[in-house]
Amino acid sequence: MDSSVNYIDNVATDGSVKSTNKKNISRDVESEIESLCKAVPQLAKTFRIIEKIGEGTFSSVYLGEARMRDGSREMFALKHLIPTSHPTRIAAELQCLTVAGGRENVMGVEYCFRNEDHVVIVMPYMEHQAIVDIIGSLSFEEVRLYMYHLLKALRHIHQFGIIHRDIKPNNFLYNRKAKTFALVDFGLAQGTSNTQIELLKPSTAHPPFSFTTTTTTSATRKAPMKKTHVTTMAGASTSRTKHTKDLVALRKAPRPVFSEKNLNSSNSTTAATTKREIKTQLVKPVKTGELSSRRFLSGRRGPATVRPLKTHRGVHQHLTCNCFQTERVCNICLSRKQQVAPRAGTPGFRAPEILTKCPDQGTAIDVWSAGVIFLSLLSGRYPFFKASDDLVALAQIMTIRGSRETVKAAKAFGKAVLCSQELPRLDLRVLCETLRGQRPNKDAKSISKTKPETTDEGAQKQACETPRPHPKSRDKTLKPSSQRHCLVHDERGWDTVPDEAYDLLDLLLDLNPNSRITAAQALEHPLFKDL
Ligand code: ADP
Ligand code: MG
Ligand code: ZN
Repeated sequence: MDSSVNYIDNVATDGSVKSTNKKNISRDVESEIESLCKAVPQLAKTFRIIEKIGEGTFSSVYLGEARMRDGSREMFALKHLIPTSHPTRIAAELQCLTVAGGRENVMGVEYCFRNEDHVVIVMPYMEHQAIVDIIGSLSFEEVRLYMYHLLKALRHIHQFGIIHRDIKPNNFLYNRKAKTFALVDFGLAQGTSNTQIELLKPSTAHPPFSFTTTTTTSATRKAPMKKTHVTTMAGASTSRTKHTKDLVALRKAPRPVFSEKNLNSSNSTTAATTKREIKTQLVKPVKTGELSSRRFLSGRRGPATVRPLKTHRGVHQHLTCNCFQTERVCNICLSRKQQVAPRAGTPGFRAPEILTKCPDQGTAIDVWSAGVIFLSLLSGRYPFFKASDDLVALAQIMTIRGSRETVKAAKAFGKAVLCSQELPRLDLRVLCETLRGQRPNKDAKSISKTKPETTDEGAQKQACETPRPHPKSRDKTLKPSSQRHCLVHDERGWDTVPDEAYDLLDLLLDLNPNSRITAAQALEHPLFKDL
């Protein structure tokens, strides 16, 4: 690709890098940079690769400096895609960046280098802070601005018919000082039915865009899959789920509200609801001859075990069975063909329609993820949901949004969900304020009485007990102001969060994708009226 950048002085005549950098980087990273420069020699002639700034399952990102023709120096982010990436997939990621990027808070692309199967996407470098590092010091105003800019990026890409599929803070760069934002990582993007991105059109889409249990694409990716101790019949290990391990995320994070352990083990003490036993079952109403998949998760029995698919698929297609609404999965059901639905993305940010394997997914999945981010920022907990299994994730969602509501929403998009007990929908304000420590006094006492270090439990318990407005109500006078009087004074504005914030949160976290607010509508929400 033609470039206006010049050689950097630290490149030897043979193209090798003389001295990678002055900073302290590990031997491993140094040798990685070395091999990258060998694999893509043009890169070393153009950039001084300074350090590694990100690492995911399908890529490594480096910081590179280039001397421009005018003598100035500029920083770039160099994204090296793993060589086994499918060419169409790479081209699609690039096309998203070139067509939609460079404006409206969406990262652009400057250059692209390729040598054999090595591809490096060169983007302008944007300095940014990891949410996990700054979540404790964010003001409400900053959070409001962050959400506004995230929704702006989403509106923009959704206008192009791009579903990002991996909306999470690590993919939405935030420079706190400059107040700039950039959506990155279109590595999992998909197109809507009328997408403007040629390579995301169904006809050009490469098969791994959707997943079946019979493909083992992840095995060919040489990607280290995080070992999940709860898997389902759907075969989590065979999907191309991406577990991005951005370097920043490896730093010590605030404790999640949910985790695999506290929701799935019988001796859990963290989530109030998990003290009781939660069993979640995802079933498709059984009709004779219908192919359906069943998955089962039991709280008491501990993690569900992987059930291999029987090979005589289709044999029992015309039989009906009587395991419906029971705790076992019969052989007939085990032999049924798995439903195919996309489920790429990061578990804690997956929308209910993804978790229930709804094949018909749209831009609303990104809006849900934005809602999860908002929930995280309002409660000061990141990540908020943490689950390695889709049904655990669904149970966590139910704990916040209510089981009846979840069952009802799932029914609306053609899925039957069973939950062994009723989980009430929580009041979002009470939940967030309690998790944030804004409701101390009697709440703090009741929390410490039950379990000294588990504020989550108290938060949820209290939120459960609080009378709540009708979920769909958009009445802005929902909360009697008396409820706010007891809040701890906070200079960052956490004692004066307006009702509009929780109203928008409720609309983003609408369990039903068909009624969920769109990014464009969300930008018109009263919360952003002055922006
Ligand atoms: P992956 O597909 O591996 O997750 P990403 O595109 O999300 O790759 O990049 C991984 C990380 O690298 C990001 O979370 C971010 O920290 C960093 N990064 C990516 N692009 C840029 C950029 N243009 N400027 C600065 N940092 C970036
Ligand atoms: Mg990423
Ligand atoms: Zn059955």
